[in-house]
Amino acid sequence: MNQTLFAQARELFPGGVNSPVRAFGAVGGTPRFITRAEGAHVWDADGVRRIDYVSSWGAIILGHADPGVVDVVRSAASLGTSYGAPTPAEIALAERIRAAIPSVERMRFTSSGTEAAMSAVRLARAHTGRTKILKFAGCYHGHIDALLTAAGSGVATMGLPGSAGVSPEATRDTLVAPYNDLGAVNELFDRYGDELAAVLVEPVAANMGLVLPAPGFLELLREQASAHEALLVFDEVITGFRVAPGGAQERYGVIPDLTCLGKVIGGGLPVGAFGGRADIMAQVAPDGPMYQAGTLSGNPLAMVAGAATLGRLTDRSVFDRLEQQTARLATGLAEAIDASPHAGRASVATLASLLTLFWTPQPPTSFAEAQAGDDEAFARFFHGLLDRGISLPPSPYEAWFVTLAHGEDEIEATLAAAGQALA
Ligand SMILES: *Cc1c(COP(=O)(O)O)cnc(C)c1O
Repeated sequence: MNQTLFAQARELFPGGVNSPVRAFGAVGGTPRFITRAEGAHVWDADGVRRIDYVSSWGAIILGHADPGVVDVVRSAASLGTSYGAPTPAEIALAERIRAAIPSVERMRFTSSGTEAAMSAVRLARAHTGRTKILKFAGCYHGHIDALLTAAGSGVATMGLPGSAGVSPEATRDTLVAPYNDLGAVNELFDRYGDELAAVLVEPVAANMGLVLPAPGFLELLREQASAHEALLVFDEVITGFRVAPGGAQERYGVIPDLTCLGKVIGGGLPVGAFGGRADIMAQVAPDGPMYQAGTLSGNPLAMVAGAATLGRLTDRSVFDRLEQQTARLATGLAEAIDASPHAGRASVATLASLLTLFWTPQPPTSFAEAQAGDDEAFARFFHGLLDRGISLPPSPYEAWFVTLAHGEDEIEATLAAAGQALA
C-alpha cells in the first residue's frame, strides 16, 4: 500500500512529498504513509504500528492525538475555523508564552517557523537600519532566501546560496560562521560588527543532529551583539518549551533581544511566532513601519491547541519526566553501541527530550564534524529499526523527539530493537 501511494504521490508532488526529508532520500526505500497516530505510535497505510520519534519534527510533545488537545480543537472548530479578526484565544496563548519566556514582551503569531525567522530578520534590519546578518553553519531557520546559505569551511565565509533559485544578492548580506567557533565570532565582529543587524542562532542546534552550545558560545554572542548594537536573535522554534519551559534562554541564562518560536507552541497545528523587546516590536505594523501580515495568523484552532499544550507544560515535573525518559533512552543506546560491533564508531548526544545517535566516535560540536559521520551506517540502522517497529527521523542530521507518551514500555522496546539492529 505504501508503494502504491508513493507512486500516486510522485505524480502529484515533487519527490512524492510536501517537504523534502519525508521522501526517505537520505535512507532509501519507500516512505510510510501515515493514516493515524496516538500517543507514542503512528500507523501506516498497511496498518503497521510503530513507535514514533519524528513527532512531527518536534511539534508534538504531549504525544499524538492528546485527548486534551483534540477536545479543544474539536470545540473550537465547531465555532468556526478562521475569522480574520482578533480573538480571545490568541491572548490566552500569548500570555502563556510571555509567562514562560519573559524576554518576549510583545509578539506576533505567524503560520510557520519560516515566517517567524523571516520576520525577525526583517525586524532586526528595520530596527538597526543595517543589513548584514550573522548565522551559523548547520543551523536551519526555515526556507528563507537570505538564510539558505551553504556552510563554507574556514573561519569567516560570506554566504553562498545553498539552493537553486536563490540569487547571490539575497545572501550577499549573510555571514556564516562555524557553530561553536568563538574565534570566528570575534573575527567577524571585529570586521563587520558595526554593519550587523543581527546574530541569528539556534541556541541549541537541532538541525544538524543535536549539537549543544560550547561553554561561553552563547555568552559571547550576547556580549558581542550588545557591544556592537546588533540584535541577538534566538531561533527557539525547536528549543522553545522543549529544553525548558522558557527554552534555551532559560536553560543557559542568556537572554536574546528577539526570539522565534514554532513547533511545540502550536500543539501540532501550524503556528510560528516572533517576539521580544517591546521597543523593538514597536517597529512592526501597524505600530511601526515594518510590514508583516498573515491571513491565517493566530488561527483559532492552532491557538487553542497551543494553549492546551503549554498549559500541560507549566508543571516542571512534566519536564523532569520527559528528561528522565530521554536520559534512559540515551544511556541505553550508548550501552547498546558499546556492546555491539560498532563500539567506538557511534555516539549519542542528548539534552532534555532531544537526542541524536551520530555515526561519529564523539558527539559533534559543529556541522563539519557532524558531516563526517557514516551516512550509510545510519541508513542501515534506520531501516533496521523501521523493520522492528521504530520510526526514526529519516536523516542522520535530525534530532529524535521524545514525547510525554513515550513511557517505559516504548523506551524498552526501542532499546531492544536498537540492540538487535546494531548487532
Ligand atoms: C523547523 C524549524 C524552522 C522552520 O519552521 P517551519 O514551521 O518548518 O517553517 C525554523 N527554525 C528552526 C530552528 C526549525 O527547527
